[in-house]
Amino acid sequence: MKTVLITGANRGIGLEFVKQYSKAGYQVLATTRTPLEDNELKALSQTQENIKIFSLDVTDEKQIAGLKSMLSGQAIDILIANAGYYGPKDEQGQFGQVNTEEWQKTLLINAIAPLKLIESFVDNVAASKEKKIVVLSSKMGSMSDNNSGGCYIYRSSKAALNAVVKSLSVDLAPQGVKLLSLHPGWVHTEMGGPNALIDTNTSVTGMRKVISKLTKKLSGSFIAYDNQSIGW
Ligand code: NDP
Repeated sequence: MKTVLITGANRGIGLEFVKQYSKAGYQVLATTRTPLEDNELKALSQTQENIKIFSLDVTDEKQIAGLKSMLSGQAIDILIANAGYYGPKDEQGQFGQVNTEEWQKTLLINAIAPLKLIESFVDNVAASKEKKIVVLSSKMGSMSDNNSGGCYIYRSSKAALNAVVKSLSVDLAPQGVKLLSLHPGWVHTEMGGPNALIDTNTSVTGMRKVISKLTKKLSGSFIAYDNQSIGW
């Protein structure tokens, strides 16, 4: 049975990844900061034997190390670094009033934590059949697509994440590990808000197709849920 590990699996895009990979017959290792909460993820794990929940705040390196030892020897076919944070949507994210602590928090969750997670689980991925690592980036991190300015905190965190993925695609190639930066579209979740253009089902169905086509040649690319390539 193939295995997928998903962070931020309790809601939004992460939860939809859990549903779809579980239905497709994968062993799903779903991580969340709130494993004891009564929510849809917990209910699903009680009816689907192939979903296991693990506690993980992605910014806590001790928790990452704890999970690493729990999953020692477990091959992970697809590692999905999905957990993410937008940062302040009010004036604290705007030029002139950018909140330094919020910026640091956002960089930690969106760019530093995925790298620390990948450092810890790369051997599990390298030991698997598929050998794939994908991160949930955003078109907002693209320089070439930025015609509207603003959003300093979120944009810079996803641009940093993209730089991390590009280097990893070079450094991990000898182990046969392939990487992708994914743009999920503008998705109807807590982060995406009520005006979003697509639902989680459309986004995740599309991204799963893109992930299934990930080859050595495509490693280090930035691709949207609808298979469109995105400029850096
Ligand atoms: P949501 O805000 O709906 O969900 C975010 C998820 O990340 C939650 O599960 C949340 O857990 C988790 N999370 C946040 N901080 C941490 C942390 N420190 N440790 C562990 N988990 C954490 O977002 P989406 O589902 O919309 O987004 C998923 C990914 O897709 C993100 O990386 C986002 O940046 C990206 N994305 C989303 C877009 C959209 O339109 N929705 C567009 C482009 C990119 P908790 O419930 O505990 O807070």
